[in-house]
Amino acid sequence: MAKAKRDIVDGPIELKGHPLGELEKMFVDAGERKYRAQQVYDGIYIQRLDSVQEMALLPQALREKLGTEYRTQSVKLQTVQESADGTKKFLFELWDGRAVESVLIPSEMVPDGEHPRRLTLCVSTQVGCNLGCVFCATASLKLARNLTSGEIVDQFLQAQKFSTKPITNIVFMGMGEPMNNYDEVMRATQIFTDQRTKMVAPRRVTISTAGVVPGIIRMADEGQIIKLAVSLHATVQDVRAELMPIAKKHQLPELIEALEYYYRKTRKSVTYEYILFNGINDSLADVKRLGKLARRMPTRVNLIPFHEIDFALPEGFDMSLKPSTPEQFQWFADSLRAEDVQVNVRSSAGLDIDAACGQLAFSQEGAGQ
Ligand code: SF4
Repeated sequence: MAKAKRDIVDGPIELKGHPLGELEKMFVDAGERKYRAQQVYDGIYIQRLDSVQEMALLPQALREKLGTEYRTQSVKLQTVQESADGTKKFLFELWDGRAVESVLIPSEMVPDGEHPRRLTLCVSTQVGCNLGCVFCATASLKLARNLTSGEIVDQFLQAQKFSTKPITNIVFMGMGEPMNNYDEVMRATQIFTDQRTKMVAPRRVTISTAGVVPGIIRMADEGQIIKLAVSLHATVQDVRAELMPIAKKHQLPELIEALEYYYRKTRKSVTYEYILFNGINDSLADVKRLGKLARRMPTRVNLIPFHEIDFALPEGFDMSLKPSTPEQFQWFADSLRAEDVQVNVRSSAGLDIDAACGQLAFSQEGAGQ
């Protein structure tokens, strides 16, 4: 069959990651009946079959053709680690031997303590990342390439096999900056939120950006109905720029302007992610500035504990990054609430398996070999 124009890596054509209309076009262009594409689409996303051989509605000849010409699995599971708190971390090998991680996080336990009300999958969008946030382990891995929508969607399909409960939420918050792989992320989102697949509700999909302004504007202009979160981490331009080099390119006033534009266009609230660093962004002045910023439009603030990273030899500013004490963390959350801000405290789920926020990293050299 003809290779779709959008494939962004060389290698075998992927069967996963094509929204239905596109898959239909591919089939018709290849001389197949349009409804066969729908049968394949349903087989992958509704019946969750990995192999075309299991798609009983397809004639044998078509199964063989698809099996020969397509890569039906986009990611291959290498390892699964399980945390004491139920969080699972997956290492997936890609077709070219590279690898990415995803994290499945049960949250909001109901009183019996066994049945999570929410099951969130944190998916990766790039192999490595070139934004260089100083608190993030992924930043130590140079950007190798963007993931395809097939590789993004398949993280979900494979991870789902490890839970009897359906995944309810997706956050684009794993390895990589999703706005720098916008098209593939949105193609995957189209499949995730398709009424036909019913994988997750649009309001339960969140794209989290380090502050890539053009992506925010594009989401606003396209009227995307998924949620937006922004890693803020500081309300002072110089401090933010030290933590996140992208802030030198898209400075705070530009970022805030873009977020207000996003709100005006979509009427959707924005979530600010804020990691607390001892003595760097956890003072009363920080509370006041953050409160003022958060009240400018409907927002919520997620406060996140910092997890020290020991994979590198930090120097200079990086070395001064320490977690706020638990007491300071609690005081900050309470003070921010007193400023009339909606505050959520994010737990350190998966800390014991290096699956918590900012901890995703591993040696690409060893992956998949
Ligand atoms: S925090 Fe996100 S954007 Fe920043 S380096 Fe890590 S993966 Fe990249």
